[in-house]
Amino acid sequence: MKRKLLLIILDGVPWRNFRRLFGNLEGWVDSGEARIWKHRSVLPSTSASCYASIHTGVSPQEHGCTGNANVFRLNHKDIFSQVREAGGVTGAVAHSYWSQFFNRHPYDYVRDVEYDEPESTTINHGRFHSMTGYGKANQMTPCDVDLFASLTNLCLRFELDYGLLHTCTLDSMGHRFFHEGEEMDHACFVMDEMLAPFITRWRKMGYEVIVTADHGQDERGHHGGRSQLQQETALYYFGDAVGPEPDVVVDQLQLAPTILDRIGAPLADTMKADTFLR
Ligand SMILES: [Zn+2]
Repeated sequence: MKRKLLLIILDGVPWRNFRRLFGNLEGWVDSGEARIWKHRSVLPSTSASCYASIHTGVSPQEHGCTGNANVFRLNHKDIFSQVREAGGVTGAVAHSYWSQFFNRHPYDYVRDVEYDEPESTTINHGRFHSMTGYGKANQMTPCDVDLFASLTNLCLRFELDYGLLHTCTLDSMGHRFFHEGEEMDHACFVMDEMLAPFITRWRKMGYEVIVTADHGQDERGHHGGRSQLQQETALYYFGDAVGPEPDVVVDQLQLAPTILDRIGAPLADTMKADTFLR
């Protein structure tokens, strides 16, 4: 493969929270290590629909996932399948929807919680969690430092060419506490501090890194529809490529072809959006 890349998706972080609360990421923007653009989600700006679009490069109107209650094995080719086609090794540390969309459905708690399948045509090394029982009073999310460590473990043991990490902590915090309180300030602060040393480590291991969210959240912690707070998040890029002007808004459908282009894997015919890194 030409390069290796890690995609880090912090679920449900609006643009303004990244910019005002993630001091390490913003510090790297100031120092020139990272570049940042606005990233606008598809509609509906609902988690499952966005995951499917991020990884296939097609809209919910085309892939058919209309929301979290409609999760199935997608028909479209995606980043995992294309990296595998090129002979690369893939891994994922994520919510179980990612396993259902891109590996197999329905999700089996025992079989699918952890798998290493070198011959897989999609995800070779999966570490998943279901958040079963999730609600406002109990988020059921793993600790993020453990997820970052799991991804690093997979990179070291299996030499991933492409790794996905997805965590719902901040989305759950937003639904529970909204965005103008000390709970969210602290949650974003902790996430930024936990993530930062891993970014340094991944870069030293030779990875390009993208940190973004699937969608934003509005004042009431809502998302799914069309508003800047619901649809717009930030995308931080650590790597050597040349990107667009700072005021360009990256469309969510551009992520899949861009990531494949960076890794050196073939784009699927269905991925029609332009790449934003060159
Ligand atoms: Zn989400």
